Amino acid sequence: MSRAYDQLRFRRTITRDGLEVDLMLNAGLLVDLPQLDQAGADGIGLFRTEFQFMVSDFMPRLNQQTELYRKAIMAAGDRPVTFRTLDLGGDKILPYIDPVPEENPAMGWRAIRIGLDRPGLMRYQLRALVAAGAGRHLRVMFPMVTTVEEMVDARALFDREIERAKKLGQELPSKVEVGVMLETPALAWQINAVCDVADFVSVGANDLMQFFFAADRDNARVADRYDPLSPAALSILSYIAEGCRINDTPVSVCGEIAGRPLEAACLVALGFDTLSMPVTGIGPVKSALMAIDASELRELILPNIKVTTRLPSLRGLVRDYCLET
Ligand code: PEP
Ligand code: MG
Repeated sequence: MSRAYDQLRFRRTITRDGLEVDLMLNAGLLVDLPQLDQAGADGIGLFRTEFQFMVSDFMPRLNQQTELYRKAIMAAGDRPVTFRTLDLGGDKILPYIDPVPEENPAMGWRAIRIGLDRPGLMRYQLRALVAAGAGRHLRVMFPMVTTVEEMVDARALFDREIERAKKLGQELPSKVEVGVMLETPALAWQINAVCDVADFVSVGANDLMQFFFAADRDNARVADRYDPLSPAALSILSYIAEGCRINDTPVSVCGEIAGRPLEAACLVALGFDTLSMPVTGIGPVKSALMAIDASELRELILPNIKVTTRLPSLRGLVRDYCLET
């Protein structure tokens, strides 16, 4: 963390109107873990488990998976760690498995789709997670879920591993939460149903925006064509936050936008009180959030995200607000 934000490290993130926000770290490898304390993060909001698989020359064994997850849990101490099950396919390729050629890999056979079609690998990983969580709080979430049924099926695989551990007399996690990543617009329109079957929702804004705007996040020509502070983007984000609030389901954002100060300010104003981001985002986001009045900013944003607005983006409005506070 840069020296400029060093003094904020031990301070809670509280907006001027008293809203507490949790700033979490995005991580995936052992080398990321010291960043928890360096940045003063409130936990790990997204542990990308596929990184271990991507940097290895072979499929990590059960005990190697368990060991990494256990180390992450221990490094976080009392702070929560949210493990995302394997998000393979799309941009995430394993060196030791030939990729299936696809026209549109981002929209192809990836993440939970592979996990459910080839449950052996996912069950193995869930087994490692259950073992790593022995006696501790275990949080697991599934990526690229598009239908409620997929979440129900994935959750059933997880429950089966808990049952298996019970039968074998293994120590179980002291608390378990199973969540869903909301990364496709289709799932947003099922928010009530998905809240029924998930303990928490984590918005994967990188993918959600890519699919919402039909703009490939890995194609430099189009990746910046849309603005996450446009009325359309803020409308869907607001819809998700409101849906989760009504259902009393905890909701967070873990895409890159959570780590940018203006975007983070908007997210908090819309009702997201947990943001997970790369380590470099924590200081600047904390500093920005401590300067805003979330309800004041909300009043500014909401009328402008109605479909009738003519503003192409609220970026200028939000920037002016943040600079004046
Ligand atoms: C996302 O899509 O926002 C996300 C956090 O997952 P990833 O970037 O790993 O696809
Ligand atoms: Mg994603």
